[in-house]
Amino acid sequence: MRRSLASSNKHFEMALTRLPLGVTSNFRYWGNDRTIYVDHGKGGRIWDIDGNEYVDYRLGYGPCVLGYADERVDAAARQGMDTGGVFALSTELEYAVAERISKMVPAAELVRFSNSGTEAVMAALRLARAHTGKDSYVMVEGAYHGIFDAVLWYTPMKSWDPSQGEPDVEPASDGVPAALRDLVHMVPLNDANRLEDLFKAHGDEIGAYLIEPMMGNCCSITATRDYVRDARALCEQYDVIMIVDEVKTGFRVARGGVQELLGFKADLCTFAKAMANGYPISAVAGREDIMRQCGDVVHGGTYTCHSVTLAAANKTLEILDETPAIEALAEYGGDLQRGIANILSRHGVAHSFVGHPSMGGLFFSETPPTNYRDWADTDYSFYEALAPRLHDLGVLCEPDSREPWFICEAHDPACLEKTLDAFERAVPDVVEQLGQRPHGVAG
Ligand code: PLP
Repeated sequence: MRRSLASSNKHFEMALTRLPLGVTSNFRYWGNDRTIYVDHGKGGRIWDIDGNEYVDYRLGYGPCVLGYADERVDAAARQGMDTGGVFALSTELEYAVAERISKMVPAAELVRFSNSGTEAVMAALRLARAHTGKDSYVMVEGAYHGIFDAVLWYTPMKSWDPSQGEPDVEPASDGVPAALRDLVHMVPLNDANRLEDLFKAHGDEIGAYLIEPMMGNCCSITATRDYVRDARALCEQYDVIMIVDEVKTGFRVARGGVQELLGFKADLCTFAKAMANGYPISAVAGREDIMRQCGDVVHGGTYTCHSVTLAAANKTLEILDETPAIEALAEYGGDLQRGIANILSRHGVAHSFVGHPSMGGLFFSETPPTNYRDWADTDYSFYEALAPRLHDLGVLCEPDSREPWFICEAHDPACLEKTLDAFERAVPDVVEQLGQRPHGVAG
């Protein structure tokens, strides 16, 4: 039975008259008749304005690591409200939160706060350029680092002909100046030889290597330990600052983030999503000699360290550091993946999981991808048919198959049961719809 979206559809028509696409972020527009407006969230669930209830695996694209309306964090935020907001001056709590981050992430010798992941990555890139005096930088194919011009570039794989050399680098948005293209280089993940060749050819111009070792916007495809070790060594050899974007992985996949999982240290790293359970705050952190440039390097912002968000960050990080919350995410994620695997296998659907159970990517091949080229080579028609069915059955995953499935501490056995029940119902329908042997279905 299809859920009703009558109220959301009606609101969409009205919202469209004042808001482009009827929303406040392009990614929230899911089509004229499928754009959802939220009434509220609690724990691991949200309710839309039609009263439909969903187990939510998007969690605001990751920030909601403990669950919606977490009472511990919200009580701290209320205290932060009493502090008064923003002062264009600092408060003592900034030191305490920075101290906690340094304790959890060894690379974070010094910390500066911002409001969003985009701002943190912008700051990191500026610091790296200032430190090296080199303006060019390297990004990894398939990565996403926010919405500022320098990182809105991508490699259009569908039109790529490997016999013609490396893929083109194209702006990911209208309005990004073409003049910036010469500064950006793209490499595939997990290919240290390609990175070395690039550094050999352009190392005297390249100031930063920007990597998200577990690509939270590309199915959680993950760098190998060998790759990050080699990339780390190459950055040192060619005087390139290694910026590790942990906006999604930070304080989620481990207390020390993906750096702890893969056993290496960044020069600079960025954090945001899980820092404050959804309250808007981010951080750029890293080597003391680079971070001490703040001063000559401009960093700041009117709203940095609003007393509400800072208090929320203080409490969220305390919980993530001092309680088994992070272990609980991984345990639920593992149970979810085993349950899904069991259902897909029974229906002959070839699949694998990528990344970490707390933000796992579902991939439709037995061999997991090692870079964006593998992902772009895969037929995602199964996922594209599955996701809307799951939505109708009260399980909210991202319609874009590149987004991992996020877990929060509040996901409970009832959420798991509802999710697996929805898979039991949806998978056979999709197998039938796609025919006897759809691409991505084994047997
Ligand atoms: N970096 C990564 C890895 C992200 O996933 C995102 C957002 O999804 C960003 C940066 C940008 O963060 P924000 O949306 O808070 O600006």
